[in-house]
Amino acid sequence: MLTIGKSSRRSFLKGTAAVAGAAITGARAGFAEGPSIAPPLRQFTYGDVQLLDGPAREQFDRNHAFYRGLNEDSLLKPFRERSGVPAPGEEMGGWYSWAPLRDLDKPGDNGFAPCHSFGQYVSGLARDYAATGDSATQEKVHRLVRGLGEAISAHFWDDNRFPAYTYDKICIGMIDAHEFAADAQAFAVLDAALNSVQKYLPPGGLSRAEQAERPHRDDSFTWDEPYTVPENAFLAWQRGAGSRYKDLGVRCLADNWYWNPLAAGENVLPGKHAYSHVNAMSSAMQAYFALGNEKYLRAARNGFDFVRAQSFATGGWGPDESFRVPGSGDLAASLTNTHSSFETPCGSYAHFKITRYLLRTTKDSRYGDSMERVFYNCILGAKPIKEDGHGFYYSDYNNDASKFYHPYKWHCCTGTFSQITADYGISSYFQDNEGVYVNLFVPSRVTWNRGRHRIVLTQQTEYPHRPTTQIEVSPEKAESFSVFVRIPEWAGAKTSIAVNGKKGEGTPYPGQFARIHRTWKKGDRIEVEFDMPTRLEAVDPQHPKLMAAVHGPLALFAVGDVPATVRAAELTSVAQVTPGSTDWQARTDSGVIAMRPFTAIHDEHYRLYLNVES
Ligand SMILES: [Zn+2]
Repeated sequence: MLTIGKSSRRSFLKGTAAVAGAAITGARAGFAEGPSIAPPLRQFTYGDVQLLDGPAREQFDRNHAFYRGLNEDSLLKPFRERSGVPAPGEEMGGWYSWAPLRDLDKPGDNGFAPCHSFGQYVSGLARDYAATGDSATQEKVHRLVRGLGEAISAHFWDDNRFPAYTYDKICIGMIDAHEFAADAQAFAVLDAALNSVQKYLPPGGLSRAEQAERPHRDDSFTWDEPYTVPENAFLAWQRGAGSRYKDLGVRCLADNWYWNPLAAGENVLPGKHAYSHVNAMSSAMQAYFALGNEKYLRAARNGFDFVRAQSFATGGWGPDESFRVPGSGDLAASLTNTHSSFETPCGSYAHFKITRYLLRTTKDSRYGDSMERVFYNCILGAKPIKEDGHGFYYSDYNNDASKFYHPYKWHCCTGTFSQITADYGISSYFQDNEGVYVNLFVPSRVTWNRGRHRIVLTQQTEYPHRPTTQIEVSPEKAESFSVFVRIPEWAGAKTSIAVNGKKGEGTPYPGQFARIHRTWKKGDRIEVEFDMPTRLEAVDPQHPKLMAAVHGPLALFAVGDVPATVRAAELTSVAQVTPGSTDWQARTDSGVIAMRPFTAIHDEHYRLYLNVES
């Protein structure tokens, strides 16, 4: 039997119904041995999901090969130098190596944050190993963990601007090495790292303003990010590293200046550093899971809504890495006064995490819509990292924009880049007892057990360049369960779902998961055809005529000559040159405007927002 209908989901939006679907799994908050809340949607393991040929797989493979090739002596060198053990190998330079503090502004070799990204590289590789089973990757993770264990010392933290930040990344590296690469030493090394940094950590989840009130060497010593520590600390505790990690998580919760006002609906984002404060929202989610206090869920949900309200058409946010005052028109101003529009690998990584947490908790498919915008318009279009450590950092939405590398090597975005591509698979599907949720439309295969039977779901698609996806469901034996397919909120009335060539009854409802329930047999095929409208989105409410063309999830960038103004009807008539192409054209009175999605832009200049007349 086939039913395609609405899944129940809207009720979470207001009030306490938010947690109706969540299971209470532990004892009283603070005394539970395990987390208090288990979100209703579960993640698959990294090994369950395999990316198939396509742009996501290509970026995953490229990053896996790149980070697997990093020189281990160079990665460990700044740790070893401070502990007095032999430190062979070349310096990596850029942010990663030690340099005299006065060299802060020396381009390319500034010693800004020694070893800041070590743990992220370990984390990314551990996840890559879990996704691929590549034993060389696992062995590298084990060598790096052992190397850190031998080289970590309290002296490492002397003159270090970012003890909380760097420790937090070490934490995710060690717990991922333990969880995903079966590293038996990783918890012991994590303990050693925490022992070494303990007296250097701030007393709690201090804001930048609070850090500025304390004695500090210069401004850069007030930019540590202790408010992001709880996510990985709670995860460490959940994965069995010990109760001291839960205590650390609780200690670093930024209740007074961040979670309390956000939970009360007060927008405290303006002026704050963008990436770290979105990243911190994942700390609120882990606090909600660990402690069972719904305040943290409210804070994360409200905070993310405030971010969405000041996002670009691409889904990116935070020009010059800062949030703006609503109503200020600052987003439009940024189109002429900066080229640093969105910190792309870090911001996308934080965006994927918070949308994954919120989607799993609320089952609201619109968090998946938000994730896919950032996927296709931001991170998938990031330039590849170069051998020498120069990496993509800012997406540029300036009226005269281009793609460029950051001048400093081995910056923060080289750390998160290794993690986010590893996460593409686990972001694509989720599951609950009813069945499987298809969240991202990427060529991929997910395999899992339902009862005693193995089920394989294979997705083939060129989405969003073609408005369709084909999903084959193959259970070992006929099996009854539901496949939930995300129908984006922008989807038009002609969106349809067919099973084995037969269109179902009812209309897939935009902004919800469509539920397809039946007894599945080997080789059953689902075909989804999305009615993808082109719409225009203003950069901010103060500049309603400064608009970007968005087709389905895809923002379109004008390349080449752009007329001073264009009519709305001309811009919405933009069409692919041939079906499936990444070349688009809008015909206007003053000629043809060539347009492309972010992934298809290379060295050409481009423009996202055009002056539109009605
Ligand atoms: Zn970054």
